[in-house]
Amino acid sequence: MAADPHKYDAWNTLALNLAFVFWAVGLLVVLGYIIKLSSVSGSKDKYDFINRNEIKYLWIATIILIIGACFFVNANVVELTTLWVFVRTFTTAMMGILVALIIQNLLKFYYPFFIEKRLKVLRYKPRISPKSGRPMKLLSEDEEDSHLDEGMIAEENVFSVDYDVWMDEETGYKQIEKYSGHLHAIQCPECNYQTFKVMREEIIKAPSYTEEGELMKHYQCSYCGYKARKTVALKQQVKLEEAAGSSAATA
Ligand SMILES: [Zn+2]
Repeated sequence: MAADPHKYDAWNTLALNLAFVFWAVGLLVVLGYIIKLSSVSGSKDKYDFINRNEIKYLWIATIILIIGACFFVNANVVELTTLWVFVRTFTTAMMGILVALIIQNLLKFYYPFFIEKRLKVLRYKPRISPKSGRPMKLLSEDEEDSHLDEGMIAEENVFSVDYDVWMDEETGYKQIEKYSGHLHAIQCPECNYQTFKVMREEIIKAPSYTEEGELMKHYQCSYCGYKARKTVALKQQVKLEEAAGSSAATA
């Protein structure tokens, strides 16, 4: 008895349609992300949005696209026995997982280089002052301290946080932006991936009014596991009375 080649047409059509639906949804996720990103105004907000969401959205889209592909490769069934169902399901799942793992690794270890470049551009793109409409100046580490409050300076010392201070020299308007070192990986000196992050920090010596302190930063690479420690000087504490006294004197 010859097998009917159209026996599984209903399934094949369904599988093909499901594939298209999944692909459409996957592309919509990417498109939705792009639209959302373009609706975020301000370089700092864009920076945070990319940092928080881009890889996550691409990963979700990847999974949906792969599920679509799994249906697509099973939309040509002409013969089906229990064994075939088992073999097909198994190989499809395995291939799907394999492709997902490859893309996950690409997103984790190669994609950050691409993101990093764009984040850098966003971080150092001159901010426009809402007061004068002119580009503001990014203050240097030394210049910025007088514009940060004590808590911010302490945080910058201890928690791998960076504050950028943008100054409108004409009107004195300033904009302070916070960048967290914990969310942001740097290049690993061992494997060169963008996967080297501060895991924890400890104060070796607290700063006093007369001496600088010392802070130990523990770095670890999430790719190769390379660990490193770096000591950083903690700035001397500033006497509050002095600061208050000088401002009272000028007032
Ligand atoms: Zn590494």
